[in-house]
Amino acid sequence: MPESANPAGAQTPAACVIGWPVKHSRSPLIHGYWLRCAGIAGDYRIEEVAESDFGNFVQTLRARGYVGANITIPHKEAALQLSEPDERAKAVGAANTLWFDEDRLRSSNTDVEGFLANLDASAPDWDRDLRVAAVLGAGGSARAIIFGLLERGAQQVFLFNRTLAKAQALRERFGERVLPLSWAAMAAHIGGVDVLVNTTSLGMTGQPALDIDLASLRKGAVVSDLVYTPLKTALLARAQQRGLRTADGLGMLLHQAVRGFSLWFGVMPDVTPELRALVEADLTHAT
Ligand code: NAP
Repeated sequence: MPESANPAGAQTPAACVIGWPVKHSRSPLIHGYWLRCAGIAGDYRIEEVAESDFGNFVQTLRARGYVGANITIPHKEAALQLSEPDERAKAVGAANTLWFDEDRLRSSNTDVEGFLANLDASAPDWDRDLRVAAVLGAGGSARAIIFGLLERGAQQVFLFNRTLAKAQALRERFGERVLPLSWAAMAAHIGGVDVLVNTTSLGMTGQPALDIDLASLRKGAVVSDLVYTPLKTALLARAQQRGLRTADGLGMLLHQAVRGFSLWFGVMPDVTPELRALVEADLTHAT
């Protein structure tokens, strides 16, 4: 039996996503699809839990019938403190997936592998000669992206952020391969990058546009956007017009869910075109 499989005695394995607010989460759609595909009589629920109740909720997770959980805003840092994190969660400083290993509550940050697996699927061999990356934004998600880029061998990560102090804090966290730069320095630096990743909320529906000029990017560069509403952001559209390979935010969202499902339900799920179409339809319906 896998280390995380349904503990003996539990009738229906169930997992959940815990957040506040969390009603908009697409995770039930994703895990519900995989449960149906695998023929598992399991469940995946939404749990709206306020910050003041989060500690108690996690401490009673198993008693509530859960084999594990996804964690979203604003609980990712608290989840790290309440569990035994793996190296990725520790490095990123936030946990988004909880599971039980016997009686130990373990945690990880699957945004790292979601980002990397999505690039691997969308732009195969993108990291073969990876040297320099550009990351826009130094918020919560940027940490997972920087960690993943360094793990795949990036020698330099240009980190552009409106608030330079936040980019500087990430250099302290990840080391001197990370170079904090102001937004204004972007034009002079992106010409030679191998991969450019937007981790800001710019370009998202309802947010200001992400206004950057991609003309200087070299032909083999890959552009990735974490934003997935709209599905095709203006950044990705501009990159595709230039003939560059791209990886979108929905792909990352789907790939980051894989490990949680396999840990909780003991089956490795696939990110299929059918799943993507299901979530795309839901996102399109909501906007
Ligand atoms: P966050 O922690 O709030 O960080 C937001 C970032 O955007 C910061 O760097 C912030 O700069 C920058 N920003 C916001 N407004 C700006 C503006 N007007 N001008 C310049 N910079 C601005 O958010 P997050 O959790 O990292 O999430 C960022 C985006 O990634 C969201 O759209 C989220 O939905 C998406 N995301 C997608 C996935 C996925 O699986 N596809 C996973 C995680 C996140 P300052 O530091 O200067 O404020």
